[in-house]
Amino acid sequence: MAEKITVNSEGVLNVSDNPIIPFIEGDGIGVDIWPAAKLVLDAAAKKYGKTIEWKEVLAGEKAFNETGDWLPEQTIVDFREYLIGIKGPLTTPIGGGFRSLNVALRQILDLYVCLRPVRWFKGVPSPVKQPELVDMVIFRENTEDVYAGLELEAGTPDAEKLRAFLKDSYGWDIREMSGIGIKPISKFGSERLIRAAIKYALEHKRESVNLVHKGNIQKFTEGAFMKWGYELVRNEFADVAVGWADCDGKPGSKLLVKDSIADITLQQVLTRPSEFSVIATMNLNGDYLSDALAAQVGGIGIAPGANINYVTGHGIFEATHGTAPKYAGQDKVNPGSVLLSGVLMFEHLGWQGAADDIVCALEATISDKIVTYDFARLMDGATEVKCSEFASAIVDRL
Ligand code: NAD
Repeated sequence: MAEKITVNSEGVLNVSDNPIIPFIEGDGIGVDIWPAAKLVLDAAAKKYGKTIEWKEVLAGEKAFNETGDWLPEQTIVDFREYLIGIKGPLTTPIGGGFRSLNVALRQILDLYVCLRPVRWFKGVPSPVKQPELVDMVIFRENTEDVYAGLELEAGTPDAEKLRAFLKDSYGWDIREMSGIGIKPISKFGSERLIRAAIKYALEHKRESVNLVHKGNIQKFTEGAFMKWGYELVRNEFADVAVGWADCDGKPGSKLLVKDSIADITLQQVLTRPSEFSVIATMNLNGDYLSDALAAQVGGIGIAPGANINYVTGHGIFEATHGTAPKYAGQDKVNPGSVLLSGVLMFEHLGWQGAADDIVCALEATISDKIVTYDFARLMDGATEVKCSEFASAIVDRL
């Protein structure tokens, strides 16, 4: 009988061989990529005697058409109840009362980590010479920073009021007709994000955690993020991890926690990728970094992601690209992003064998040069197949 996934007080999941997992098919190319990914996920799970009971929940256009609501309350109730879910891309409603459905889901469930592993899969066309050196896991803070949504439009009475207040109280002379955004970075938010990154690095036997920040300029936001990170290492992880300054860069058998400035990091992930393993950073830096890195290993068509709260156990695994409306329903695009998000979900559930099998089968398919259009145009002698055919070819190689 299918069972709910549960979580204990330490945030550890209890997963049966027959869990109920909610899914959002997604708008646009969701109709193509979700069935393709599901085919592979089910086949890999079956090899290990596991069966997922998929439970469709609605969001986006499909939800709006069927219920008149872009994000029905029942969807939130189901994600809360079943803890772990997966989703395709969602259209951002214009004037639907939401900045973005994805952001709304993250905020409502307080999914404070955006997890983006970036690694190269054998055979995938890449613009760099040694894509195999890229093997990083980005922990991007998901709830704060200039993305928290605290912004005032230039010229509005509210912006003028704030401008006058800043001038009177702090002597800050902000130019007329300025839009104003607020950048909150809290100790609580920084610590829980960095704590999750350190725990992940320890569990996965990673070499280092790199705190990426722009603290040389933004001292009390990004600089504080770094400072709180190093303090956290001393206060909570002293037996297993050590900060760079506390060991002169020589951590011995402990996990090394270091930091680097965001601008130089964007250079070095390109020129010295093997020096980066786990990265912990704030919302905006994390957004730039994860897309720049995805480009090095094959682009957004195969970049997986997840949004997780490691305390409550909630997690939504998701395709990181959008709905690509011009390709919707053509059975053409690459299902890799949502499929690899499913792989990430399997790993998170402790189904490592099934996750590894999918990765091997995916690499074997690409090595056989059986690929969707996005890769076919970058490879010599490739056989271009449809989205569904690509999934079947992976299943054949499981
Ligand atoms: P997009 O990611 O949908 O598409 C940009 C281009 O990337 C496409 O034209 C296509 O060439 C390529 N692409 C995307 N996915 C691909 C795949 N699986 N295989 C091969 N090629 C792929 O970005 P956009 O056009 O800026 O956004 C379209 C809609 O998606 C908007 O409504 C936007 O708000 C939404 N969006 C949603 C998410 C999400 O749900 N996570 C993320 C980004 C954008």
